[in-house]
Amino acid sequence: MAEINRPDRRRCVRCGREDEWNESNHNWTISGDQGKPFCIHEWDINGTHNPIAE
Ligand SMILES: [Zn+2]
Repeated sequence: MAEINRPDRRRCVRCGREDEWNESNHNWTISGDQGKPFCIHEWDINGTHNPIAE
């Protein structure tokens, strides 16, 4: 069975906002600064991070 390496935090490369993965409600929760209110958020786990090991 493949181990899924899911990140437990993510960071916006545009405004620097950080989110943490909340296991209890299976959703991202804001960690640290809110960031820019109108930022569309370019998460650093997008594109470069593959959740499933190759
Ligand atoms: Zn952002």
